[in-house]
Amino acid sequence: MKNQMPISVAIIGSGPAGFYTADALLKCGEPCKIDIIERLPTPYGLIRGGVAPDHQTTKRVARKYEQTALVDEVNYYGNVEINKDFALDELRQLYDAVVLAVGAPEDRKLTIPGADKSGVLGSAAFVGWYNGHPDFRDLDLDLDISTVVVIGNGNVAIDCARVLLRTPRGMLASDLPDHVGDVIHAAPITDVYLVGRRGPADAKFTNVELREMGELTETVPQMKSDQMPDSIEKTVAILKGRERRLKVRNLNSLAEFAERAADEKPKRVHFEFYAQPVEILGGDRVEGIRFERTEVNDGRPSGTGETFDIECGLVISAIGYRADPIEGAPYDEKQAIIPNDEGRVADGLYAVGWIKRGPVGAISSNRPDGETVAEHIENDFAGGGSKPGRAAFQAALKERGVRSVNFDDWKRIDEIERAAADGTAPRRKFVTVEEMLNALDGKAQAKGD
Ligand code: NAP
Repeated sequence: MKNQMPISVAIIGSGPAGFYTADALLKCGEPCKIDIIERLPTPYGLIRGGVAPDHQTTKRVARKYEQTALVDEVNYYGNVEINKDFALDELRQLYDAVVLAVGAPEDRKLTIPGADKSGVLGSAAFVGWYNGHPDFRDLDLDLDISTVVVIGNGNVAIDCARVLLRTPRGMLASDLPDHVGDVIHAAPITDVYLVGRRGPADAKFTNVELREMGELTETVPQMKSDQMPDSIEKTVAILKGRERRLKVRNLNSLAEFAERAADEKPKRVHFEFYAQPVEILGGDRVEGIRFERTEVNDGRPSGTGETFDIECGLVISAIGYRADPIEGAPYDEKQAIIPNDEGRVADGLYAVGWIKRGPVGAISSNRPDGETVAEHIENDFAGGGSKPGRAAFQAALKERGVRSVNFDDWKRIDEIERAAADGTAPRRKFVTVEEMLNALDGKAQAKGD
């Protein structure tokens, strides 16, 4: 007779990769009991802490994750941190399967001279700050400056530039935290440079995001005609399908930007290509950045020896993310991921999302990761589970005095944040863990009183 004991699964991390895994496990042929364990009280990972505050439509995908969280077989344990409250090895002893879905939260480091000066920061910190992530609540940013340089030509770079340039009115329907809006909207910033080490056809922006830069109320995009390819058709000749369409759209958008007058609006966003950063200039604080002109051969940039400087008061390095090693799991230093075979890491240990395959792709790219790992778990535990999972985990939480936040608690936080929002804003976020826990204890409201 088939063993009826459900497979006990712990998913570490409650971002898209974690939730798609939970959803896929619920749909697999074997009964599963799934516990989603999250370091913060709040769920949804980069949906809350990464997707820009003015992109609320993108954040709506969390409603789907909520449906998954509300299924009986799924429990949510927020405010529980692995390798602090529980060692990964302990969880592996408690659960049949442990799925690591912790993302890639660190910056790929900018390693040029002067990168340690004040006023140089990575996109993880800047994005975390403008999204009210508790880790970055106290980021001390001096934005009493006119010019910002953002290094990188991906969607994160464009998000950073746009959030700096949107007007307060343009942010009314966002959940930009008050302390962030106060600093950004008081800043006398007039120019933001988005600098790519390769050419316009190599930029990784998606076209909706790029076009948005041409539609800002107070900002005009600037593009140098001499950096545009002579022929868009020739440039994309070897490309096919979706990639070709995206490149053509991006190049057309940039060609339009090249026609815009610099004085059309009070602020400018400059698209600068063929430039790699070589040195941060200034004393203790950044005063500028030196770039070397590049030429691109076979898709690779190489320096030409010609340099130029941009004076600026802030440099944001948006050159991608990396995952740190996790105690108890193997680590591939070069790729900054957990080495895995289609998500399988070791017996009963799996990885999904950015920690599995690196920091690229849209939110939906995480779905197949979850489906593949759910299939592995279904096959690996075809006779059912054997480890106690939730019951033992809950007992250990109690024994260790860990204050976990369940999904009802999160819904309460969510409700308070929504009730505290002004006008068309979707919510006023709590920006520290303490505030969140106090709110659950009835001690404070998100309005900060
Ligand atoms: P990304 O798309 O990989 O872009 C990283 C950028 O950094 C590239 O332009 C890269 O140039 C550049 N770069 C890397 N190392 C560099 C160096 N040493 N010096 C100068 N430039 C360097 O990464 P991302 O922007 O962090 O985004 C991560 C993923 O999230 C992407 O898949 C992105 O599309 C997604 N995302 C989507 C949205 C959205 O849809 N709205 C928003 C945010 C993020 P090369 O190309 O030359 O390597």
